[in-house]
Amino acid sequence: MSPRRAAIEIHGAVQGVGFRPFVYRLATEIGLTGWVLNDVNGVFVEVEGDVEDVQRFVARLEAEVPPVAHIDTLSVEWLEPGGFDEFEIRHSDGSGAKTAIILPDLATCAECLTDVENRTDRRHRYPFTNCTNCGPRFSIIRELPYDRPNTTMSSFTMCRSCRDEYDDPSNRRFHAQPNACQDCGPAVTHLDGAGNETTGDGAIEATVGDLIAGRIVALKGLGGYQLLADATNATAVGTLRERKHRPAKPFAVMVQDLDELDRVVDGTGAEHLLTGPSAPIVLLPERSTSGLAEGVSPPTSTIGVMLPTTPLHRLIAAGAARPLVATSGNLTDEPIAIDDTDAIERLEEIADSFLVHDRPIERHIDDSVTWVVDGAPQLVRRSRGYAPMPIASSTTLPTILATGAHLKNTVALSVGSNVFISQHIGDLETPRAEAAFAQVIDDLTRMYEATPSMVAHDAHPDYVSTRYAMDRSRFDDVPRVAVQHHHAHLASCLADNGTDEPALGITWDGTGWGLDGSIWGGEFLLGDASSFERVAHLRPFLLPGGEAAVREPRRSAAAVLREAGLDIDPALPGLASFASSELGILDQMMAKQVNSPTTTSAGRLFDAVSAMLGLVEVSTFEGHAAMALEHVADTLEDGSYAIPITRSDEAWVVDWAPLIRSIVDDLAVSVTPGRIAGKFHNALVGAIVGVAERVEHPRVALTGGCFQNRLLTERAASRLRSSGFDVLMHRSVPPNDGGISLGQVMVAAARHDTPGEASTPA
Ligand SMILES: [Zn+2]
Ligand SMILES: [Zn+2]
Repeated sequence: MSPRRAAIEIHGAVQGVGFRPFVYRLATEIGLTGWVLNDVNGVFVEVEGDVEDVQRFVARLEAEVPPVAHIDTLSVEWLEPGGFDEFEIRHSDGSGAKTAIILPDLATCAECLTDVENRTDRRHRYPFTNCTNCGPRFSIIRELPYDRPNTTMSSFTMCRSCRDEYDDPSNRRFHAQPNACQDCGPAVTHLDGAGNETTGDGAIEATVGDLIAGRIVALKGLGGYQLLADATNATAVGTLRERKHRPAKPFAVMVQDLDELDRVVDGTGAEHLLTGPSAPIVLLPERSTSGLAEGVSPPTSTIGVMLPTTPLHRLIAAGAARPLVATSGNLTDEPIAIDDTDAIERLEEIADSFLVHDRPIERHIDDSVTWVVDGAPQLVRRSRGYAPMPIASSTTLPTILATGAHLKNTVALSVGSNVFISQHIGDLETPRAEAAFAQVIDDLTRMYEATPSMVAHDAHPDYVSTRYAMDRSRFDDVPRVAVQHHHAHLASCLADNGTDEPALGITWDGTGWGLDGSIWGGEFLLGDASSFERVAHLRPFLLPGGEAAVREPRRSAAAVLREAGLDIDPALPGLASFASSELGILDQMMAKQVNSPTTTSAGRLFDAVSAMLGLVEVSTFEGHAAMALEHVADTLEDGSYAIPITRSDEAWVVDWAPLIRSIVDDLAVSVTPGRIAGKFHNALVGAIVGVAERVEHPRVALTGGCFQNRLLTERAASRLRSSGFDVLMHRSVPPNDGGISLGQVMVAAARHDTPGEASTPA
């Protein structure tokens, strides 16, 4: 039989995952000659041998992919024999359009952990141990293709032993780009408050000593600086809150292993998430025996927990042998610090000591946050371990840059049929955040050498992200598309579920610029990415002070009480902390509609009820009041408030005013806050189902920040299903504003496909 040659092209997550060595081993095992090559688009293979052997090779290539790799497409072309002598790994070709998928950073694998713990291994206690199955990727890559000279490891020259591993196709570290050891790789240094430096293992011991002594340590982690403190020490936690200006927002906790995790939280059903290569923070119910200081997570009994994601984290957590607060190295709402000089300047007022190292961080990547809702994981912050993995679209998209929302900002870029969503950037409220936002856009477009032919942005005229998009559109002379905020939420949820069929989107959140110029937030939108109809909304009310009301749930309480026909005075629930003169002013503002925009915000309705129950009258972070309200709510399925659905000229209106009056009545007869909160949640679930039944569309999508509430989300999903509806929920992108950029890309792409719909001709 004459030999045949096959040219194989593979796309997907196939770089930096040991794919080439896998191909090499397979080809040599079967006895084929040829070569394998990584380039900017994916992996290319040519193999030559008997037809059956080549076919067997292709079948096994697909069946036996390495654990963290993923093949999207694989094509085979048969060619005349090339006369190869052996099978070789060829050098990467850096030319051509860049569509290869950059892998996220991967948590340390079990084999590398074993190496680090093995006293006789040459990497015993080496904090930067990694292999082709684990280790840094996105946080160190400077450009494609993913090869060591294109990473922040380029300045470290491998020692003889590491080089041998790197060159040995049978080794787990074959072509592991960040491969390193004590002799040749990055090293840690501990800096104490007095200016003393300790290096090597002593640095880790000094860090552990600091934590046990109740000190706060700034740790240069994988994707940025983190702040660590003993989570069982109330003084340490309190000091960290005070210095970080973060009075109440829950802190995440790092535990050393699953045993320690089990003492702190009930991790049932989340083990695979915690121990998988993404290893996010998972929100889990705290055990009463957790031993955590009360200040770790004041408004709830849910704790965000993660396992160590690098050997460095593992060594510190195991040394401290107690749960540690692990939070972003920043002042409230600023992007996480990555540059050493900048970090020391920004964090020296917060941290008592620093643990730094000499491997540069190419880009900031926060820890991701996820939870298990309605039986499956859902991301609420998509960053380390996930970004920049794309969301695949069923069709090829124009190259669109989407600038995202104002809070929890991410940006997105479509290339081919992939939408690359950036890591979490954060709230665009400070010059530092704005700079990080512009930097991430430059980074993403440069990495894929993409020239956007369209820019999509939020419809809000004054957002930083909108102004950026306007400038960019003018400067690059490309069309821009303003996307209504809640429409983006709906389109995001559809894309997240891999569908372009329409749905009734229950899009509930705090704030989004409405088409009528009012503040939307309790919307029922029927449509798809191309268009929508606002078929229902919450009863509108006036928001005295606009933005000020976002920080002060008691203002929303005053607003809904007034809208419900009650005279607002300090005797009413939730208003006691106002001086009566202040209430008079608020009343006047609303009566004259001065600085009192109209809103249909579901988030503000949650705020109002939370304040009325005396839970949170002034909030210190987004979602604070709603989180407290959910926390106290009883979980009885019976008991609700009347919440009529009325008909206006254009849409159904969910009238919550009678519910507010009923809550006032309940409070007057000392019904508990838990019962009232429970009935409030049930009433909203009833309204969701009631509108869905009137609209009569078979599919319902739950999206927007309000659906980070377990009680609301799970009960709504279950009631909708038992009424015969299909329910779509977010899974791979957050339901909150972190998912907006994806939705903006999909809406802009749909407009692009519809002649005449783009704001200017493409
Ligand atoms: Zn490994
Ligand atoms: Zn070495």
